[in-house]
Amino acid sequence: SESNETTFFTLDEVTARSLYKPRNPFGHKGTYGTAVLVGGSYGKIGAIILSAKAALRAGAGKVFIQAPHCGYTIAQTSIPEAMFIAAGENFIDSIDIMEDVVRGIGPGLGTEPASRIALESFLRNNHEPFVIDADGLNIIAKNKEKLLPLIPEGSIITPHPKEFERLFGRTNNSLERNELAIAKSKEHKIYIILKGHRTQICTPEGACYFNLSGNAGMATAGSGDVLTGIITGLLAQGYSAKEATLLGVYLHGLSGDIAAKKNAQEALIASDIIDLLGQAFLRIS
Ligand code: AMP
Ligand code: MG
Repeated sequence: SESNETTFFTLDEVTARSLYKPRNPFGHKGTYGTAVLVGGSYGKIGAIILSAKAALRAGAGKVFIQAPHCGYTIAQTSIPEAMFIAAGENFIDSIDIMEDVVRGIGPGLGTEPASRIALESFLRNNHEPFVIDADGLNIIAKNKEKLLPLIPEGSIITPHPKEFERLFGRTNNSLERNELAIAKSKEHKIYIILKGHRTQICTPEGACYFNLSGNAGMATAGSGDVLTGIITGLLAQGYSAKEATLLGVYLHGLSGDIAAKKNAQEALIASDIIDLLGQAFLRIS
């Protein structure tokens, strides 16, 4: 039942520890699920590679990249652990419906007409919750009256403030955005991760968490693509949407904090967040 009450929390190391589930000693790669990262386009293949690598580092058993054919050699050489599904030549023109996988859609996708049609048709045919980021959100924003209602309940969207405003309209300040994000999470029954300094996580039940990890070194290209991969990788392993959003956001920021201690915030690049994710897991496990 819907309620107008909102409960506010901070998301800190104690919360992250309480969410972490150690791996089963008898687990095999099937136990930890399959993540499919959908995105990339000519000149933006790196985005989906960052997401896929992050999903692997977050612990997914298997990872597929679905990207246009121009990304094939790049992906297979830069991440030998990931499998590749080609869709289109330079831009994605279809999104496969596969069973028993968790999808993260949008990084580097572009907003070409062919990719817009592909995502629209996916939204009409797919009823499983998934993670939507970046150009996935920008495509939805271009036809929001029709497409927002097609996002399955329990899905997770990860807009930065501009993407958020394209989806839900202009706001004057972060307080207004906060209130709107809370309302839209309840209305669409989705998790909204409104990214920035002190990323907010709004749940469909009306809880709002403020993340305490992360730093301004993470204001660098590709940083959000890494978050999409981490959350998709956690979902693939069986974390619930709520657990994966909270644990994913905290670990992403913590890994960024570890990176900024090794090097300066200025020198931080998105790949560092992937490389140090294991250190972040060790800190909260
Ligand atoms: P995106 O804009 O999609 O690349 O996402 C940027 C990511 O970096 C999000 O997870 C933000 O929360 C994080 N980030 C960016 N700037 C800051 C900041 N000043 N403090 C903390 N985290 C940040
Ligand atoms: Mg982004």
